[in-house]
Amino acid sequence: MTEPFRAIRVSKTDSGQKAELVQIGLDDLMEGDVTVAVEYSTVNYKDGLALTGKAPVIRTWPLIPGIDFAGRVETSTHEGFKPGDRVVLNGWGVGETHHGGYAEKARVKGDWLVKLPDSISTAHAMAIGTAGYTAMLCVMALEFHGVTPDKGDVLVTGAAGGVGSVAIALLAKLGYRVIASTGRASEADYLKGLGAADIIDRNELSGPARPLGKERWAGAVDAVGSHTLANVLSMTRYGGTVAACGLAQGMDLPGSVAPFILRGVTLAGIDSVMAPKAKRVEAWSRLAKDLDLAALDRMTSRATLGNVPALGEEIIAGRVRGRVVVDVKA
Ligand code: NDP
Repeated sequence: MTEPFRAIRVSKTDSGQKAELVQIGLDDLMEGDVTVAVEYSTVNYKDGLALTGKAPVIRTWPLIPGIDFAGRVETSTHEGFKPGDRVVLNGWGVGETHHGGYAEKARVKGDWLVKLPDSISTAHAMAIGTAGYTAMLCVMALEFHGVTPDKGDVLVTGAAGGVGSVAIALLAKLGYRVIASTGRASEADYLKGLGAADIIDRNELSGPARPLGKERWAGAVDAVGSHTLANVLSMTRYGGTVAACGLAQGMDLPGSVAPFILRGVTLAGIDSVMAPKAKRVEAWSRLAKDLDLAALDRMTSRATLGNVPALGEEIIAGRVRGRVVVDVKA
């Protein structure tokens, strides 16, 4: 019998589901060729959906949620990893169909892991988390489609959330003039501290969109979807690009083709979960280079494994600012 360790487990009940702190053993983990001593995890929006049951993210019951983690390899039969390697995992169905990051140990496929760049600690890796890695994928998409700082402003929606906060810090460091759209006017100083030049009220973008509006930005990172994304597209400058990664307002897209066919606007879809390994490795090495760690620290708060169920409720209610690191040993 191996040493028991702690995990958050979500199981079905007569009235819905419950998330609780339990003790489990290695035999309770699922198949995989690498076992990782998890040091940190985090709470992303999708984790909130899984923990609260607000959307059917969990598809195997009972499940340890947590769509990402960072830690050290304990045992490995995968040729790419050896004990002691510092690794990060984002997505691949972990925390949805495979036991995830809210446990002191995880067993996964080595193919899902990325070795951390030397300059990123496991704590910083989870301060970045899937939200921050997705923000990097969005920035890479804007660059790929030719949105450079001289082309004009870049808008970030859901600005005070995780994806938004990291996107602002990245874009500002890369020399873009960033407009932050938020529903939390009280966070204006926080957003300016991360590098936002201008703040707009998200209500400006949350109602039904006209086919075309005044051209206001050359690019955008959208974490919100629905009417907001339709408005963002309608106000994107000729030849601009919008990287769409989120659905905080909704999954619908009630807009018009006018921005595409009259202004040559590009809508770039961003998926972090099944992104190929080469893209992940590129994103993590870009994060090591282009993310100001002091800005990352300013947007990060700390939590324990026991705090995770409550934080799930908080993030879905839009009350979490920036990023939360979960110290799974605490
Ligand atoms: P957060 O909850 O940290 O941020 C979301 C932000 O969106 C909130 O902080 C709030 O920002 C804004 N928001 C919330 N509700 C509404 C609303 N009804 N209307 C308009 N704005 C709203 O979540 P994350 O940053 O972790 O994730 C953001 C989105 O990106 C989520 O939808 C998530 O599922 C998605 N995502 C997608 C990934 C992918 O692979 N495509 C990967 C990671 C995340 P403010 O208070 O500033 O207005």
